[in-house]
Amino acid sequence: MYALPEKLRDLTPYDPITGSYALRCDANESCLPLPEEWQEEIALATRQLSYNRYPDPYATELCRAFADYYGIPVGSVTAANGSDELLALLTSCFLNAGDKLLTLTPEFSMYRFYAGLYEDKSVVEEKSTSLSIDPDAVIRRCREEKAQMLLFSNPCNPTSLGLKREAVRRIIEETDALVVLDEAYMDFWDQSLLEEASSYDNLVILRTASKAVGLASLRLGFAVSNERITRALQSAKSPYNVNGLSQAIGAAVYRHKTLLRQRTEYLIRCREDLQQKLDGLTVFSKVYPSVTNFVYAETPLAKQLHQALLDRSIAVRLMGNALRITAAEPEDNTRIAAAIEEFEKEETL
Ligand SMILES: *Cc1c(COP(=O)(O)O)cnc(C)c1O
Repeated sequence: MYALPEKLRDLTPYDPITGSYALRCDANESCLPLPEEWQEEIALATRQLSYNRYPDPYATELCRAFADYYGIPVGSVTAANGSDELLALLTSCFLNAGDKLLTLTPEFSMYRFYAGLYEDKSVVEEKSTSLSIDPDAVIRRCREEKAQMLLFSNPCNPTSLGLKREAVRRIIEETDALVVLDEAYMDFWDQSLLEEASSYDNLVILRTASKAVGLASLRLGFAVSNERITRALQSAKSPYNVNGLSQAIGAAVYRHKTLLRQRTEYLIRCREDLQQKLDGLTVFSKVYPSVTNFVYAETPLAKQLHQALLDRSIAVRLMGNALRITAAEPEDNTRIAAAIEEFEKEETL
């Protein structure tokens, strides 16, 4: 009888909230649908596609539009089927058997998921009680463990906190490990290292179209790195990893530079609005100062509050003793805050 590998036996399929809720604030997607005025152009792009042919293996036009939007050389960009694909590629192909991967906690859960799946030897550095990253502790741990790869998000999901550029530079410069810097939320902050990515010999920056750009459905992720690493990534990826539809639509969207920036600015205001509304609520023991499009707030009643919100058709993410709430438009943020106030009143009865 065939026996599944041990590591797969207890694994369960990814299980996000799938029910239908009036407000979905659990996955950090953009709350903005694509603008009406883009629909025509997108329809046209999809009509012109040669469906019977394989797509461009290097998604050249898409990479060009992405590189142009961020003002970086197109030769430093690798496109993928979501940054998730790049995380899988990096944690499987860029470590030899026995090599060590250093991650932090709390962090994005997928890092440890892939590390486990690919049997990486992983070590985890616990963040301090402030949940911010201590660059000296990370550098020290990297050296002690002789880690071959360091992987973390900046700004961080789930904490919503950011580490300033200068500190990130120091980490990269003071380690020989390959630093995989996940900037999924950097569109909402101004401390990106994207423009310097190719000047380091040990840096891969990951970006995604799933958050500020508002294309989570298309599954588009990008790696930005020097020529040598880019070549290795492009050689190791599967040939037609980004489908033709996603390439065409993604390229069309990234070309709308001005509107894309305006929409990102608006999403930042949505988060400031949510942050302000949550700051005043007594159920939270701490609301973290976010530089992302979501707010991370601790409460001893996290589990009950999470359920109370689901009962009111509002989905947010429960993370231990905290909730991670994706910013919505102001009137929806008001509904979330009102629902939490209702819960507070019930709890004190
Ligand atoms: C949402 C998110 C991503 C994006 O993943 P995709 O596969 O591109 O949708 C990557 N990293 C972090 C930390 C995220 O929160």
